[in-house]
Amino acid sequence: MEFIPFAFPSIGQEEIDEVVEVLKSGWITTGARTHRLESDFAQYTGAAEAMAVNSATAALHLGLAAMDIGPEDEVITTPLTFCATVNTILHVGATPVLADIGPDGNIDPRSIAERITPRTRAIMPVHMAGLPCDMDAIWELARKHNLKVIEDAAHAAGTLYRGTHLGGKESKSDAVAFSFYANKNMTTGEGGMLTVNNPDLAERVRVLRLHGISKDAWKRYAKTGNWFYEVIECGFKYNLSDIQSAIGIHQLKRLENFTATRARFAAMYHHMLAGVDEIELPIDNAAHRHAWHLYMLRLRLDRLTIDRAAFIEKLRERNVGASVHFIPIPLHRFFARWANRRHNQCPRALELYPRLVSIPMYPGMTEEQVEYVADSVKAVIAESRRRRLAVA
Ligand SMILES: *Cc1c(COP(=O)(O)O)cnc(C)c1O
Repeated sequence: MEFIPFAFPSIGQEEIDEVVEVLKSGWITTGARTHRLESDFAQYTGAAEAMAVNSATAALHLGLAAMDIGPEDEVITTPLTFCATVNTILHVGATPVLADIGPDGNIDPRSIAERITPRTRAIMPVHMAGLPCDMDAIWELARKHNLKVIEDAAHAAGTLYRGTHLGGKESKSDAVAFSFYANKNMTTGEGGMLTVNNPDLAERVRVLRLHGISKDAWKRYAKTGNWFYEVIECGFKYNLSDIQSAIGIHQLKRLENFTATRARFAAMYHHMLAGVDEIELPIDNAAHRHAWHLYMLRLRLDRLTIDRAAFIEKLRERNVGASVHFIPIPLHRFFARWANRRHNQCPRALELYPRLVSIPMYPGMTEEQVEYVADSVKAVIAESRRRRLAVA
């Protein structure tokens, strides 16, 4: 079997043709294709407004900045996330506060409740692997304590919460950030989207997205040909180019199929790995639709003779790529200074971390490859099984 990476983008001929058209058109920065991607994404999710940006990190940063979250404020998020989530809180000068995870690996609303102080301004939940957080509980806390909610939905394009998309009409969140990074459920190479349902917030995000200019270049060029522009605040350079949006338009059309394929592969893994005592399988919730960005196994290390690093190495020897999501925030040197504070302690995330292994999951896999990965996991476990003494 050829090496199976843990993630791989599915780029079709339509994406390639559209990029070539953009390149030949002479308009290669933000323009008609980006506007098309925004309206398609708003329609897909049911959000009132969708704003394309050059990463989910930019989307989170813009969301916080547009809501005037700053140096006096605390933002509660999860320790089990990519560093970008916490970096954006620091970028606006606010203090990140970590709430621990629950059994499903997502932020635990009870832990959020314990961390709320008079300085708390916002909650930033992360839908780990594409499994939605308990948004009803989070929205209830936000309502009670007058907090903003900005969701890190980097894994969750295609996730349904009680039957509707994150950021859609049913959403009580202020903003939702999606990622189009190379390995995410849909990609533009690099890119992201921020959805909001409040038009004033959307307008502020649009201004901040491009230097703080009151109108973007496309409107000036296409509608008025006007040379005049005005900077109304200190903004950022976070716009998405039409080269990237050309890819995104076609990726979005294929997202429902991608999601269905991921779910089918998850069901195959579940079926083939059920009953293997040395691992726990990822938790699903039938009330929602999991987007299966990742398929995360949990090793039961007490039943194995090897640790997680050796487990991943043995998979690699069998030509199976694997990864870890994520190294908890308090374990990074830069963030460690917060970990010592009592209100940032996250024992459940730290206990889970050495057990986490993400195995290959992407729509371009063949069923044969999915079966090969599951067989490889079982073979590595069989080799490394700790023989427990039978009690007579
Ligand atoms: C990928 C990822 C991000 C950042 O996405 P970019 O588009 O690369 O900025 C943020 N949060 C989580 C949980 C992610 O996995």
